[in-house]
Amino acid sequence: MDKTFDTIILGGGPAGMSAAIYSARGLCETAIVDTCTLGGQPSNYMEIDNYPGMMKLGGFDLAEKFEKHMDMYKVSKFLMQEIEYIDLRSEIKVVKTKEHTLSAKTLIIATGARPIHLNVEGEEKFAGRGVSYCAVCDGGFFKDKVAAVVGGGNSALEEAMYLTKFAKKIYLIHRRDEFRADKVIQERLKSNDKIEVIYNSTVEKIQGDEVVKSIILKNVKTGENSLLEVDGVFPYIGIHPNSELFSGQLEQDAKGFIMTDNTMNTSVPGVFAVGDVRNTPLRQVITAVSDGAVAAVYAGKYMEAAVVKQNV
Ligand SMILES: Cc1cc2nc3c(=O)[nH]c(=O)nc-3n(C[C@H](O)[C@H](O)[C@H](O)COP(=O)(O)OP(=O)(O)OC[C@H]3O[C@@H](n4cnc5c(N)ncnc54)[C@H](O)[C@@H]3O)c2cc1C
Repeated sequence: MDKTFDTIILGGGPAGMSAAIYSARGLCETAIVDTCTLGGQPSNYMEIDNYPGMMKLGGFDLAEKFEKHMDMYKVSKFLMQEIEYIDLRSEIKVVKTKEHTLSAKTLIIATGARPIHLNVEGEEKFAGRGVSYCAVCDGGFFKDKVAAVVGGGNSALEEAMYLTKFAKKIYLIHRRDEFRADKVIQERLKSNDKIEVIYNSTVEKIQGDEVVKSIILKNVKTGENSLLEVDGVFPYIGIHPNSELFSGQLEQDAKGFIMTDNTMNTSVPGVFAVGDVRNTPLRQVITAVSDGAVAAVYAGKYMEAAVVKQNV
C-alpha cells in the first residue's frame, strides 16, 4: 500500500478540485487522482459567462485558477493514472492504479461525464477528420467551411454560435420541432444569420473520403432521407456519466448517474459523489463546485463520527 489518506478524490474537474480545496483546508490528508490532467470539461471550452464574479472568463483560465487555489493547500496529486480497480465496500477504500495503491477513510467520486455519440455509420471512422465533440478545440479548422451541429440543448446552441466565428455556415440539426435550450440562448441563436436550423431530423450516416464530405439526414415526420454537404459534424446530444468503474458497488440511476442524498452521500458509507457524475438536476460548474464543498465537509463529519464511535 503506497499511502493511506483521510480522503481520496477521484477526478480533478471543478467538483474534484473544489472538494480538494475544502478537504485540505479542513486539515484532512487529501489526494486527488485523475486519469488525465487537472481541469475537467472547462479546459476544453472557450468561455464561461455564468460563473458569478467571473465575467467572460475562458474555461481553461477558470480551471487554472481552481488548480492554483488548490495548490495553496497540501493536496497529493496523482495524475495521468490508469485505474485498475476500486474497492468501495471495505471500511478503508482502495484505489489501485497501474503505479500506485492508495487507500483512504473516505472517497469522493468526481469523475464527471463525457459526450454521448450519435452511433451512426461513419462517426467513428471520421472522428478527428471532421467529426468533433469539441467546437472550441477544433472550430479553427472550419474557417470558411460548412458544419453541422447536432442537438437541441444549451451546449448544441452555444457551440453552433461559437462555430460561426469560423465557419461560413452552420446547420443545426434537431430531432424535435422545438429546442430544450434556455430561452435566452434561443433568442441569441435567432439573431445569428449564419445558422440554419433543420428541425425534426436525425443524422443517419456520415460520409466522405479522407475527411467528412456530407451527411444523410432523415426527416422523422416524413421518413424521407436527404443529403447535406458539410465539412464537419459536431454531435452535442447529451452526456454519459464516467461511472462504469463503480457499477455494482453503489446505487446508480438507469443512465448510470450515481445516486446521492443532499449531503452527497452515496449508498455506500464513506463514499460521496459530486458534480456531473451524480444524479443532479443541473450540471454546471457552479453546481459541481458546490457539491464538492458539501462532500468534503460531510466527509470530515463522517470521519469525526467514526472516531467518536471508536471511543465509546
Ligand atoms: C461544451 C461545454 C460547454 C459548457 N459550458 C458551461 C458554462 O458555460 N457554464 C457552466 O457552468 N458549465 C458549463 N459546462 C458544464 C460544466 O463544464 C460541467 O458541469 C462541469 O465541468 C462538471 O464538473 P465535474 O468536475 O463534475 O466534471 P468534469 O469537468 O467532467 O471533470 C471530471 C474529471 O474526472 C476525470 N476522470 C474521468 N474518469 C475518471 C476516473 N475513472 N478516475 C479518475 N478521474 C477520472 C476527468 O479526466 C476530469 O478531469 C459546459 C460543458 C460543455 C461540454
